[in-house]
Amino acid sequence: MPLWKEYFTPTTVAEALAIRSRYGHDALFVAGGTDLVLDMQHGNHAPVMALVDVTTIGALHQIVEAEDHVVIGAAVTHAEIESNPLVREHGTALTESCGVVGGPQVRNVGTIGGNVAHALPAADGTIGLLALNAEVQVSTFDGNLVNAVWQPLLSIFAGPGKNNLGDNQMVTAFRFHTRHLGQASAFDRIMRPQGVALPILGAAANLTLGDGGLRVAAATLAIGPAGPIPFRATAAEQILQDAVALDDALIERAVLAAQEQAELRTSKHRASKEYRHEMVAVLLQRVLSRSIERARRDF
Ligand SMILES: Cc1cc2nc3c(=O)[nH]c(=O)nc-3n(C[C@H](O)[C@H](O)[C@H](O)COP(=O)(O)OP(=O)(O)OC[C@H]3O[C@@H](n4cnc5c(N)ncnc54)[C@H](O)[C@@H]3O)c2cc1C
Repeated sequence: MPLWKEYFTPTTVAEALAIRSRYGHDALFVAGGTDLVLDMQHGNHAPVMALVDVTTIGALHQIVEAEDHVVIGAAVTHAEIESNPLVREHGTALTESCGVVGGPQVRNVGTIGGNVAHALPAADGTIGLLALNAEVQVSTFDGNLVNAVWQPLLSIFAGPGKNNLGDNQMVTAFRFHTRHLGQASAFDRIMRPQGVALPILGAAANLTLGDGGLRVAAATLAIGPAGPIPFRATAAEQILQDAVALDDALIERAVLAAQEQAELRTSKHRASKEYRHEMVAVLLQRVLSRSIERARRDF
């Protein structure tokens, strides 16, 4: 039995959403296909009547600066993000996270939209975006018009491998604020040497330093997998922001809070819960110290 019967190549978001709405559950969006087609081939996803290719929509391929934000289209590939100077300047954590996805072949076709829509809590691009406090643009078709709405990234996740987009909705873009003085981010992950696809653990930090680099004015920390959906270490963020001085003891307290808040699991193919617990500390210390060092270059 074929995995799909019809393959559509729309050139606008309206056209893509009209086709998807017409087929309902019997159609799926496809971008690079590096998650979806493999899932279908391995029987983890049932065959469908139609695939709707989103990479033929020109508007989803842009990376632009607009109104104090960097805006990235859903069909932009990991390779394009990794090599983009605007993303490197304003969202280093995303450059670093997209830069380690798979190998060159996967990065050349795998998209940021597919990485997020696949909704795995450890997806590298997702962790990078989450640390940047990114918003996702969800476009909805009402049978006539397309309405595009910016919403918090976390709002589209419903559980491991599940997003809450309806049959008449798709992800069209992501955006995060351009960098201000004293702000910097970093991403790192731990992968099995022979590993493909998902890491044992990934983490990203995005810090804004105040008082000439001596205290944390704002912090966003993302870790995955550390729960059913991509995880923000909010307790650690609060500890960093509340402190009057930035020192090793503060980092240690923040790391302990993140370890306590994270919902870690043992996974058969990757790592034990206990190992991941230790690695939360290793990775957070790394991404925090890199962010601090980068942010202090502004002072
Ligand atoms: C060998 C290999 C190594 C990999 N390594 C990594 C890794 O290191 N880190 C990592 O995070 N991932 C990894 N992956 C997973 C995968 O490559 C990425 O998640 C990739 O970003 C998926 O994007 P895609 O364009 O291929 O998505 P697709 O497979 O085309 O789509 C994925 C899902 O998203 C939906 N979708 C796609 N675009 C949209 C849209 N615009 N709106 C709504 N829904 C949409 C599809 O319907 C599907 O459900 C790897 C995969 C392979 C095969």
